[in-house]
Amino acid sequence: MYVLGDFQPSELKYQSNYLQILSDTRIAEHFSYLISGIESAEKWVCTNFPNFQSTLTYFFMSGTGPSPFNATLGDIYLKVGHYNPVSHDREIVQHAIIHEMTHIYLRNQIGFKIRQDEFGIRKFFDEGFAQYCGFQSINACKRKLAHADACSSVVVKRNPRNLIDRINSWQRTVFKEKHYPMYQASFSFIGYLEEAIGFYDLLQLFRNANGESSFPDVIQRKTGAVFTELLKSWIDQLDEPGELSEEEFFQITKSARVSNTCLQVGYQSMYPLYPVKNILVLNESGEQLEVAITRSKRYQKTGEFNIFPGNCKTLSLTIVFDDHIQKVEINDGV
Ligand SMILES: [Zn+2]
Repeated sequence: MYVLGDFQPSELKYQSNYLQILSDTRIAEHFSYLISGIESAEKWVCTNFPNFQSTLTYFFMSGTGPSPFNATLGDIYLKVGHYNPVSHDREIVQHAIIHEMTHIYLRNQIGFKIRQDEFGIRKFFDEGFAQYCGFQSINACKRKLAHADACSSVVVKRNPRNLIDRINSWQRTVFKEKHYPMYQASFSFIGYLEEAIGFYDLLQLFRNANGESSFPDVIQRKTGAVFTELLKSWIDQLDEPGELSEEEFFQITKSARVSNTCLQVGYQSMYPLYPVKNILVLNESGEQLEVAITRSKRYQKTGEFNIFPGNCKTLSLTIVFDDHIQKVEINDGV
């Protein structure tokens, strides 16, 4: 039995052909705003996922934290307690709704399963496609793809050899290396593939992988290239990290060691940032370092985050928000 944690149902409800959304009383104030205009995202789904039938139930929960998705029950729990009634946050919530709906579509309608023996590679495609459809449906694909491309340039292009290992150990990467732009890389890759073979053939690729066939074989048959070659062509066409064009929207307000290992950095930005996803930190050897924040402090224009620089004195930060990029250096302790 699945116990639905801490949910206090309110009277509020949204109901359409595809989904119903129930709201917790504690986030009732935001509820109407966060779902306003969702009809146009659903229209995108209706056009691009022909014959899709769904009776998904979403629970808008209070609090912050992971938002579990129960594929068996087909219920989706989104913790929306930390969102504010601003268009940026509404976009994130609606993206999450269509992202999860895309997984359901691939599972239930297309027959694409995440087989244990091909877990990483299937997740790479599955999550990249869910990101792609989520952002297409809310008309944000271009600028969100620019973000995903830039993150991939800065981290993946600089060190492409690690990518395959990270895909193969998907769970460890996503849960233990939260700062690594895995979802951005998968989205950037799917954006590239969609451009190359088109949306229809991309869906066909998922459809062809619904039986016993090996997914790498299906990829090769559909695209004419083996997966590692495809990854290489995608990486090759990404901008060089040094050639990304920059703007000024971000400032460091303080930086100080709070312990032997932890450097705390204060910032101010014109755009709301989730530093774990929007700030990429590299040390002098070009290795990416972990960025951490208090979970409830996501998407703020001023805030703090922690870096764990080891013995490094100079850190290079790339701040990426949508299609805006800026680079900043920190000299530790200065
Ligand atoms: Zn997902």
